[in-house]
Amino acid sequence: MSEMALRAEIVAVAQAIDKAGFCPSKSGNVSARFEGGLLITPSGLPYAQTKPEDLIHLSLDGTVLSGARKPSSEWPFHVEIYQARPDAQAIVHTHSPRATALSSARRGIPAFHYMIALCGGSDVRCAEYATFGTPELAKSAVTALEGRKAVLLANHGVIALGQTLAGAHTIVAEVENLAGQYLDLLASGLEPVILGEAEMERVSAKFSGYGKVG
Ligand SMILES: [Zn+2]
Repeated sequence: MSEMALRAEIVAVAQAIDKAGFCPSKSGNVSARFEGGLLITPSGLPYAQTKPEDLIHLSLDGTVLSGARKPSSEWPFHVEIYQARPDAQAIVHTHSPRATALSSARRGIPAFHYMIALCGGSDVRCAEYATFGTPELAKSAVTALEGRKAVLLANHGVIALGQTLAGAHTIVAEVENLAGQYLDLLASGLEPVILGEAEMERVSAKFSGYGKVG
């Protein structure tokens, strides 16, 4: 993919998550690996006005290589995840409402539904709380992402990673869907029936057979 096509796709995903209501108060951000580093959305610019040339090219130690704007304040966890996870080609971060509500109880999402397997395993963990934009948050996100493609950030939001931007986008939307269903289930007072490890492994195998895991 050319640099211009990649930049355009990052902006398209950022505008799609904003349109979905996942980015209140200009929150959230999107990045993809590029030339040994990453391209990331800028800080403080409304998504509707963001253009491909507004993205910032960072090295994997966070140095700005090109771009007139400031990178998203959450750049430290993007850098940390790309360093720790060779499988991550793209990262999408949102403050989507229902996943953020669940994260504020510091609860992850268990395998109450088989689609949890899309997130890389048998649950979506909730990472330990740390202040936004800090190296501590980056470390707690990487720890809770071990063996997973999505994580809830306590009292904050969601991170999803993928082998493609489309894959990371699909996962971040599914996490919002699953968090909403799980909250509804908890609010109903009914007891969730959690699928076992063996069933979740069968589902994961089926997803990889279909090429469905992002
Ligand atoms: Zn955030």
